[in-house]
Amino acid sequence: MDCIFCKILDGSIPSKKVYEDDMMLAFYDIQPAAPVHVVMIPKAHIASANELNEENAKYVAHIFSKAGEIAKSVGIENGYRIVNNCGSDAGQTVFHIHFHLMGGKTLGKMA
Ligand code: AMP
Ligand code: ZN
Repeated sequence: MDCIFCKILDGSIPSKKVYEDDMMLAFYDIQPAAPVHVVMIPKAHIASANELNEENAKYVAHIFSKAGEIAKSVGIENGYRIVNNCGSDAGQTVFHIHFHLMGGKTLGKMA
């Protein structure tokens, strides 16, 4: 499948890993939008939030259950934002669901 994040998962595209377990991977975003910008992805190809269901939502729950620990490990435990872009109007560019974990400055109001 032609999915950048599946290729990161299988190791054919390198990434700067922050955290990994059997259900998820977190790595630094290649084009950071904040001083600290990590991308958290499930180890299952789910294209977007539109494809979530009772069965695969466990991946999202798992990612959120680890987010605080990951934030602490990259030094943004004072505050961070978790963002999911779903669909073209939101600017989703990679169609493997992911959660941006951003911090390292006062983030200001959301758009
Ligand atoms: P989105 O626009 O919400 O779909 O976010 C996709 C994110 O993936 C963007 O912030 C990109 O900078 C990031 N990205 C794309 N390719 C890579 C890569 N090879 N390694 C790390 N981050 C990437
Ligand atoms: Zn994928």
